[in-house]
Amino acid sequence: MTDILVLGGGYTGVAAAIRVAHRTRSTGARVTLVNASPRFTERLRLHQTAAGERLADHALTDVLAGSGVEFAQGRVTAVDPVRRQVSLGDGRTLGYDKLIYALGTVTDATVPGVAEHAHVYDDYAATVRLSEHLDTLTSGTVIVAGGGLTGVESAAELAEARPHLHVVLLTRGRPGSMMSRGARAYLDRALERLGVEVRAGADITKVLPDGVELAGGELIHSDATLWTTGTRGLPLAAESGLTVDERGRIVVDRVLRSVSHPDVYAVGDAAAVTQKFGVMHGTCQGGIPTGLGAADSLAATLLGRTPPPFRFGYVHQPVSLGRRDAVIQFTHPDDSPRRWYLTGRAAIAYKETVSSSPLPQFRLLKRGLVPVWAFGLTAGRS
Ligand SMILES: Cc1cc2nc3c(=O)[nH]c(=O)nc-3n(C[C@H](O)[C@H](O)[C@H](O)COP(=O)(O)OP(=O)(O)OC[C@H]3O[C@@H](n4cnc5c(N)ncnc54)[C@H](O)[C@@H]3O)c2cc1C
Repeated sequence: MTDILVLGGGYTGVAAAIRVAHRTRSTGARVTLVNASPRFTERLRLHQTAAGERLADHALTDVLAGSGVEFAQGRVTAVDPVRRQVSLGDGRTLGYDKLIYALGTVTDATVPGVAEHAHVYDDYAATVRLSEHLDTLTSGTVIVAGGGLTGVESAAELAEARPHLHVVLLTRGRPGSMMSRGARAYLDRALERLGVEVRAGADITKVLPDGVELAGGELIHSDATLWTTGTRGLPLAAESGLTVDERGRIVVDRVLRSVSHPDVYAVGDAAAVTQKFGVMHGTCQGGIPTGLGAADSLAATLLGRTPPPFRFGYVHQPVSLGRRDAVIQFTHPDDSPRRWYLTGRAAIAYKETVSSSPLPQFRLLKRGLVPVWAFGLTAGRS
């Protein structure tokens, strides 16, 4: 019997586990998913959690029910790709024949003070800590560092949900700089309407207990600082001897296998996946297709077939601007903006459909169906 171990129970690990269990059923393979928490975290909604919204609680055992995937709770501390063993924090060791690595990323804390003083989105518990800290503030300033889409969504959400707090968005470039001129202008107006102070051109050199320091020495006071400027693969990937890129992500080949250890597949934010346009960046939009692609690739190998190369193209950048506004930028496959974008009510409905889609998609996958949108995103796969 082949033992397939999936590390990580986020969007991509769950998608990969359900898909590979379905595709390898005839071989009698055993599929086990390991995750640190028994809870499935809707990472797409962490900015809502930060703002104080209490979201539905999903147990991983419920999410996986009926898929044939076994769940093992545990924190992975090491992978030995030579002995094909995974160590867990409680001393347990799990063996495998094939591994799918889907442990996501952690905040890049290279700027001094981030690890000690900034709030981060590394997991659900850390996000709840931010929310609880904000609950204690009757007034004051919240700094959101980073003008990417996570920073923009967070600043807007916090400003709308906690209007008694002054939200400052600090960013090197312009917020939403990857969007078209029209979508960016819409986003700027929405942030202004919500009272978010945007400071572009800000280069943060240090995070302090009560603020941040900018290059040049200017100090900006804050009562809470949320850091969203970038992420890295977990150190354990490199420590395990797997080949990683400069951001600690596992480098994979055209069928999503580690270039150094072909029994290991890597997916989602944790993987450096090269396409014609370059290396994919971390999104759920691209991550779930990599999970499905790795599952199909692994299943094909077990069944003695040649796996097709993985191909992917982006379609959109969906951005919520609080609960009452949103902007959706449609994109070329390389993620560069098209001319079209949606705003207002249509955009809110679109964004909510995107955010709520993974759980129903998992149910389809259990029945062997690949969601229509995933076909679209992986268009070109043979
Ligand atoms: C606020 C916010 C909004 C976002 N909005 C969008 C969006 O609109 N569209 C989009 O496409 N993307 C969005 N993203 C990005 C998206 O959430 C990620 O790309 C996606 O979650 C990656 O999925 P993953 O499965 O690779 O990693 P994760 O979802 O991070 O899952 C990793 C899993 O591994 C577990 N884990 C980690 N370390 C260990 C360990 N040592 N042992 C055991 N388990 C471990 C974690 O608990 C987690 O369950 C957003 C992200 C944030 C933070």
